[in-house]
Amino acid sequence: MSAAFPLPRLPEWCWSGELPGVLELAAARPGPHVAIFALVHGNEPAGAAALLQLCELGIRPARGRLTLCFANPQAYAAYDPSRPAQARFLDEDLNRLWDDNLLDRPAASRERARARQLRSLVRQVDFLLDLHSMQVPGEPLLLCHPTAKAVAFALRLGIPATVVSDPGHESGRRLIDYSAFADPERPGIALLLEAGCHRQRRTVETALAAVLRFLDVCGILDPADAARFAPRPWGREPRLVRVEERVTVRRGPFRLVEPAASLRIVPRAGTTIAFDGGRAVRTPFDDCVLLLPAPSAPPGHTALRLGRLARPVAALTRPGAEPGSASAARR
Ligand SMILES: [Zn+2]
Repeated sequence: MSAAFPLPRLPEWCWSGELPGVLELAAARPGPHVAIFALVHGNEPAGAAALLQLCELGIRPARGRLTLCFANPQAYAAYDPSRPAQARFLDEDLNRLWDDNLLDRPAASRERARARQLRSLVRQVDFLLDLHSMQVPGEPLLLCHPTAKAVAFALRLGIPATVVSDPGHESGRRLIDYSAFADPERPGIALLLEAGCHRQRRTVETALAAVLRFLDVCGILDPADAARFAPRPWGREPRLVRVEERVTVRRGPFRLVEPAASLRIVPRAGTTIAFDGGRAVRTPFDDCVLLLPAPSAPPGHTALRLGRLARPVAALTRPGAEPGSASAARR
């Protein structure tokens, strides 16, 4: 396990300006609009640390526009290392609100007010990467809505090498599910990175590597910056896991049979993997991949996702048109 990193101090622009927490960098040459989000969950500081390191590198877009966003700095301001889970949000989960039916109504919480504030920005973005981290140890992964465009883009990135295609949660729509991002007929790509365990230094390194690779593939970096900073895809062949079912806590408490670890494969169907209250939760199919366990999830929330390994992925990774060079239409 790598050591913990120091908690990042957010810059002044997180607390002031017309749209607090948002930094826009525009190039003179036209190109796509790329956004990197961190702190959608206030208890996940690794993404914020990676964004600050990106700023320190002095990278600016050579074409198009780059937006950096600290999504919920108020929740992060309440972060207490002895009780980190409490800073995930102030009133409700900001990553379950991305639905115009919800956001058209008057804001009933501080997170809804913030989502309404960020909505017009999100609608303009062509490529969005949302940085998260995990409660339990596990390999990093890219999560995407199961549209072919998002899956193909995520597999092309190759950092990290595991892509999870996941339709989402019963409890609300994620940022990556919002509007055109989840519409196969419209352009717009959004991916969620689970970079590793919340406070590990390696998680920050993974997040920064994924961000630099993302900016490079989106085609907005100056070639000299790309050559100097952007990593190549990690060596391993990318693999795709498709989420087939999610385990939502009914009664609770939810308890895993084995220590929580993401991406564990359970060979046989019918194996007991957890208990929800007194009820056994069993694997519904052979070679079931356990994803993103959240052992402290309350009733009504996702405690575990169950996926199948898709193979081969070669057919999905054939190089397509350069997304950065396409005339990315505004949505
Ligand atoms: Zn998160």
